[in-house]
Amino acid sequence: MNNYQHILLAADFSEHGDSVAQKARYLASKYQAKLSIIHIVDNLPITDAAYGPVIPFDIDLNAELLAAAQKRLTELGQTLGVPEDRLFIEMGSTKLEIVATAEEQHADLIIVGSHGRHGLALLLGSTANGVLHHAKCDVLAVRIQDT
Ligand code: AMP
Repeated sequence: MNNYQHILLAADFSEHGDSVAQKARYLASKYQAKLSIIHIVDNLPITDAAYGPVIPFDIDLNAELLAAAQKRLTELGQTLGVPEDRLFIEMGSTKLEIVATAEEQHADLIIVGSHGRHGLALLLGSTANGVLHHAKCDVLAVRIQDT
């Protein structure tokens, strides 16, 4: 059985994400695998049919969000010792972008938290569930305890 060679960590920058990130670092070192990190910026609905535009159009929120996310990603990369060229940031559907990047980068293990920002009430968070359903490689959902 081959060891994992390229691990992709899906990071949402939530407070629970630390233990997921540390597990990814540990496994990458144990398997002597490359480690990459991906973060997805959710698409923002900036209009609502009922109200019309709700945000002035001179504010480029997507650019602001991307810049803030890029900063967090760079910091996490430095903490985990992941070089810039293995830090990925995308916009769109979280689960689909994680899976697509894993395929493009030939990752053989995706690591997600069992839950993230979208609520501990569920048995398995929606992202973890979606990635498990769509990924062609192994997926590790690191259990995040409800405190
Ligand atoms: P959730 O679906 O919010 O419960 O999140 C479960 C896990 O999916 C998190 O612990 C992360 O590993 C991953 N995840 C959630 N949102 C994102 C995101 N925007 N970018 C990258 N990974 C994410």
